[in-house]
Amino acid sequence: VRTIGVLTSGGDAPGMNAAIRAVVRTGLYYGFKVLGIRKGYNGLINGDIEELTARSVGDIIHRGGTILQTARSPQFKTEEGLKKAMSMAKVFGIDALVVIGGDGSYRGARDISKLGLNVIGIPGTIDNDIGCTDYTIGYDTAMNTVQDAIDKIRDTAYSHERCSVLEVMGRHAGYIAVNVGISGGAEAVVLPEKPYDMDTDIIKPIIEGRNRGKKHYLVIVAEGVEGKAIEIAKEITEKTGIEARATILGHIQRGGSPTVYDRVMASQMGAKAIEVLRENKRNRIIVFKDNQLGDMDLDEALEAKKTISEDLIQLSRILSL
Ligand code: ADP
Repeated sequence: VRTIGVLTSGGDAPGMNAAIRAVVRTGLYYGFKVLGIRKGYNGLINGDIEELTARSVGDIIHRGGTILQTARSPQFKTEEGLKKAMSMAKVFGIDALVVIGGDGSYRGARDISKLGLNVIGIPGTIDNDIGCTDYTIGYDTAMNTVQDAIDKIRDTAYSHERCSVLEVMGRHAGYIAVNVGISGGAEAVVLPEKPYDMDTDIIKPIIEGRNRGKKHYLVIVAEGVEGKAIEIAKEITEKTGIEARATILGHIQRGGSPTVYDRVMASQMGAKAIEVLRENKRNRIIVFKDNQLGDMDLDEALEAKKTISEDLIQLSRILSL
């Protein structure tokens, strides 16, 4: 491998820039040429490609989003789009492609790997919903953003003795929700992984909390429990008489300067991608498992599943007393 292409794909996440920077600088350090591909797989199809130098990734480690921009590329899912992407990779002499993104992006990576391109995936998504890895770039920053919002909402909820129902991101997974439920001291956390009962899981802890002298209430609802935050708030007001307000945090959770943890993790994962290429490995996903950085076969990675910690869910319930 001599020339590496790097792109970001799917949803953006804080820390993607730190990963790009690490791929570029570690790559250059070991004598590779690194090309930046803009707007995900679309950039590969269209040849929206430019050589990156150590300086082109200067001043980006602290910035959220992705300087390469990202996209969802329906064209890449077609036979024709895939072939175009492959021929463009040949035009630019790309021997290996580093894809920073989520599960969807790895499926695209698998498709183009079948045409002969070597692909290395780096997990980047705020949702932490990639089965093969315990950690994904952007997750820590997103949770800290939510925590910051919770602290602000708590001030006003306390003053009015209100209940806040906060919808947080996470796609079909409740990783963000369960953690901020603990860090934010929520009375209840509603997760897509667990069926819930309005009366026993939400109304009862709120009423009991009030009787024990609580002055404000927080319910975290994961976005995977679709459209439920507003409904839940309404029902809380009706059943308890406590005024409940729903807040849907939305894309605020995707932006912002990455935390130290995300920057360091992204830097290590970017460097690991280059290490894997130096070892002449093909079609691997960089993973963080059992507190260790590693790499996994692409097909195996796509099959891998993980589950949310029952202990964490249980703890969030106990601590809401
Ligand atoms: P993420 O990588 O964050 O999961 P997406 O699911 O939006 O994001 O995927 C990003 C891109 O990866 C898509 O726009 C598409 O080009 C490609 N992709 C997604 N799913 C598939 C699939 N099943 N087969 C081939 N390519 C896919």
